[in-house]
Amino acid sequence: MEPLLIGVDVGGTNIRMGVVTPDGHIPKKIEYPMDMSRGGLAMMEGLVSRLQDFIQQETGRDRSEIRIGIGIAGSIDMKRGLLVTSPNLPDLHGFPLQAYLQERISYPIIIENDANAFTLGEGWKGAAKGSRHYCGITLGTGVGGGIVVEGEILHGSEGMGGEVGHMVLNPKGPLCGCGGRGCLEVYASGSGIRRRALEANKKGKGKKILKKGRGDIKKVTSEEVFEAAKEGDRTALKIFNEMGRYLGLGLVNLIHLFNPEKIVIGGKVSKAWDYFIGSTTEVVHQRTMKGQREKVQIVQTECGDDAGILGAAYVALKLE
Ligand SMILES: [Zn+2]
Repeated sequence: MEPLLIGVDVGGTNIRMGVVTPDGHIPKKIEYPMDMSRGGLAMMEGLVSRLQDFIQQETGRDRSEIRIGIGIAGSIDMKRGLLVTSPNLPDLHGFPLQAYLQERISYPIIIENDANAFTLGEGWKGAAKGSRHYCGITLGTGVGGGIVVEGEILHGSEGMGGEVGHMVLNPKGPLCGCGGRGCLEVYASGSGIRRRALEANKKGKGKKILKKGRGDIKKVTSEEVFEAAKEGDRTALKIFNEMGRYLGLGLVNLIHLFNPEKIVIGGKVSKAWDYFIGSTTEVVHQRTMKGQREKVQIVQTECGDDAGILGAAYVALKLE
């Protein structure tokens, strides 16, 4: 009998879980806010009990047929099942996540980086369906990514490869959460867009951005910048244009290194697609070597918020 899959997407603010059929449909799913008020371990305890309840309520099947995949933001040592670092769970660095979950849940579980899960979800059911060479990029609070070569996600020696967001575009650029400077993430993430809005505000620019933040610049996120761009705010448009150029540089590097057929872009910041993709494709066209640039397609996510659930379930489906 075919296994029934549970895909879990542990994001920065919300946790989503879904029952996924082996052909990639999601008959049931739930979403709830991630509660970090009592720390990472309490959040994990909550996740385990939600997951147990979800399995009991939604599957009603024999336990031997269930497999669970969990996508989580952070560096994951796939060999040892460790959460090496995680931007959202700073108190769980080095946490033996795989063993912790497996002790509490009796079904087979596999953990994977959330951006790798996004990438695999898009390859399975979304915009990269049928591709054997493609990359995924998630533009959220940070920038994540995944690289698929010959149909397999690239893990590297310890499982931590494919950190697309931390390719260095400017060695003298702003500090990044990873400890480096000028990574793609500091330019193309929601936090990067917010930083640019704050800088512009100091110079007295971006009136509509400030208005969207109800007059309080501290409340401004990339979403307010997006809203201001829709109303034609010049500063907001400029911020997305510049963000798009840096994203383009990141894509040029990916294209030269991996010669992908497709690059799929998702994450909440990608909703501002129309405001950055023009400058992105311009940079890609200008700077990519002939032969590669004509073939590569740069496309938007098709699975949207479900990509993470689907990709996590796909990893579980492929469990030996
Ligand atoms: Zn970085």
